[in-house]
Amino acid sequence: MYHHIKKLMFTVRVGQADARFGNMLLEQFGGANGELAAAMQYTIQGYNCEDPARKDLLLDIGTEELSHLEVVGTLARMHLMPMKQKDRLASEADPLVAIAGGGGVCLNNSMGNPWTADYLKITGELDVDLRSNIAAEARAKIVYERLIDQCDDPDSRDALQFLMTREITHMKAFMSALESMGKGPLEIGMIPPTPDVVEQFFNDSTGTGDEGETDERGPWNEDGFLFVESPAERVATATQKEVARQIAMAGKRRSTPVKVGKRRH
Ligand code: MN
Ligand code: MN
Repeated sequence: MYHHIKKLMFTVRVGQADARFGNMLLEQFGGANGELAAAMQYTIQGYNCEDPARKDLLLDIGTEELSHLEVVGTLARMHLMPMKQKDRLASEADPLVAIAGGGGVCLNNSMGNPWTADYLKITGELDVDLRSNIAAEARAKIVYERLIDQCDDPDSRDALQFLMTREITHMKAFMSALESMGKGPLEIGMIPPTPDVVEQFFNDSTGTGDEGETDERGPWNEDGFLFVESPAERVATATQKEVARQIAMAGKRRSTPVKVGKRRH
């Protein structure tokens, strides 16, 4: 059950309306990392969730995101106000909003692309969804930071600072929820990965670039990895017999570990 209270989560004030900034704010209203996307992603995940504790978390945060939508929508409306007053220069900041929308907020991003459910990441696997949510909060945080960087109005900055801060709170909550599930960081789903294949790191980008780029080694290809030197080049220079032998070996490796009906739970 939803209920609306005629009070904003954070009181919004705007010193000087700036229609161009109002257009930028639409990124957090109807954009890919915006508040409607966050609200719908967590809420729909919550509807699907069979775990009552984490369902509560998803619906708590999903509902808070709707309150953020209201705050950012109010802020955008105030900045877009000159369009309603038929200010030609202000209207040029976003003709779609000014002419099609009458100067009101609409569910488009800052470039006029309509909001879409394609923005949502909902897999139906709770731990996988929580990872998506942690990443979504990080994206929302950085978008707010960029908006703050582009904003001269101290009152608007206060509201954006509040919204940005809440995303870090959500990120922390999602991280704790994932951790409390007790799954290892690489334990996704039920079917284990193929042991020797999962360890191989392919050096698929080789050579020296014009800006000094070279092959780099680090924990991402050293710790727990078998570094395989440019597999494509090796295949290209291999004799037909060698290629046939490698394909046969890969086929053998692939066929052994997948046993349908004997999944580990
Ligand atoms: Mn938010
Ligand atoms: Mn959030």
